[in-house]
Amino acid sequence: MDGTDSALELKRSAKYLLVVSLDGLSSADFGTIKELPHFKELLQSGALVREVKGVYPTQTYPLHASIITGTYPQKHGIVANTLNQPGLENPEWFWFRKAIKARPLYDIARSAGLKVASLLWPTTGGAALDYNLPEIPPTRPGQNLLWSVFRYGTPLFLLDILVRFGWQLRGIERFYLDNFTSSSAAYLIRTGKCNLLLLHLLDLDAARHKHGFLSKKAEQVLQDQDRRLGKLLKASRQAGTYEETAFIVLGDHAYIDVHHRININTALRKAGFLRFNRRGRLADWKAWGNSCGGSSQIYLRDREDRTLRQSVNNALLALKQDPDAGIKAVFDRKQIVKMKLGQGIDFMLEAEPGFYFNGKFGEKVVEAAPGDRKAVHGYLPHLKGYSSLLLASGAGVKKGADLQEINIVDIGPTLAALLGLAMPSAEGRVVTEILAKDA
Ligand SMILES: [Zn+2]
Repeated sequence: MDGTDSALELKRSAKYLLVVSLDGLSSADFGTIKELPHFKELLQSGALVREVKGVYPTQTYPLHASIITGTYPQKHGIVANTLNQPGLENPEWFWFRKAIKARPLYDIARSAGLKVASLLWPTTGGAALDYNLPEIPPTRPGQNLLWSVFRYGTPLFLLDILVRFGWQLRGIERFYLDNFTSSSAAYLIRTGKCNLLLLHLLDLDAARHKHGFLSKKAEQVLQDQDRRLGKLLKASRQAGTYEETAFIVLGDHAYIDVHHRININTALRKAGFLRFNRRGRLADWKAWGNSCGGSSQIYLRDREDRTLRQSVNNALLALKQDPDAGIKAVFDRKQIVKMKLGQGIDFMLEAEPGFYFNGKFGEKVVEAAPGDRKAVHGYLPHLKGYSSLLLASGAGVKKGADLQEINIVDIGPTLAALLGLAMPSAEGRVVTEILAKDA
């Protein structure tokens, strides 16, 4: 029983659903976007949720998995951006659909006979979609970006959009990449090719990391994103599908501006839990830190070794005692389970505001943040002012609804409801307050 049968009983209120994730769009942006023409159009004709509370760690991949499955990381399995790969300064990310353990909206939609497209939506490598541009950048020398994208995406569609819009790209520079994916999305809308379209735009996140959370540059990028939204709305009008489309614009996390970084594996090396050879490669490990920006996961090699667990616990608490180390909290396995992050992580460290964790094997445990890293996310989701927002407009949406707060896991079931589908495995609720009565 996967929910498809009960889904058919629901009335479908939107024939088309467009979900635009503006990576890094935050509650704090409301003042800016309400003055921009296309955001304004959506706001005036639709519904607003001012604060969407995230999941821990507040990183792009866990958050997007929570959006699309309506579940917490312990259920969907995307517990960080990156895999736990001891020895690697730049581990691989959760690129592949098969890592998601809960049922995503796109699978539910396809089972109901709907066509689905995804453009750079996280963790869609190898997903069974009608049109798929997965995000799989190379992490090792010799890997080829185009090869991975074609292998794990839908090749004919990718060729089609590359021929049409590839000229807009400059490598994977975010500004141009967002132009390319939004043009491709507009093309899909104009040709009426899909019912559910997931678009993930990246430039706002890049700008905020590099220039700071509320930087001038971030404000400029919001204007670019408004222009891209305009392009999508126009395509929908041209296609004659505007009245039958629900438009959702959402973010995933906010940021905290930073000045120092914590090289967590340097701390673990100094405490004797990691050994490197002369060439700087990892020779042996007992405890490893998987950095999540504002937080860090700690994995034990031997999870049954109680003495090891106790000594790592003591070392982490000692580090927290050091006022210069920038560590705000140490969470143990029990607390991690309570935070719905699952069974697999042994400790979780939360950084003080201004500090963040980093995967590099630096000499010092704490050092000044590099010049191109001004703001970070990944911190606890319930910090004040640290939420994203959501706009909804169009078919099936209640005009004028203004909600203070929802949880990010409420989004998936609400999107499903807009399409007349059910998401029975969701841990969140359908946000009926933003849905039109007949939805
Ligand atoms: Zn993000």
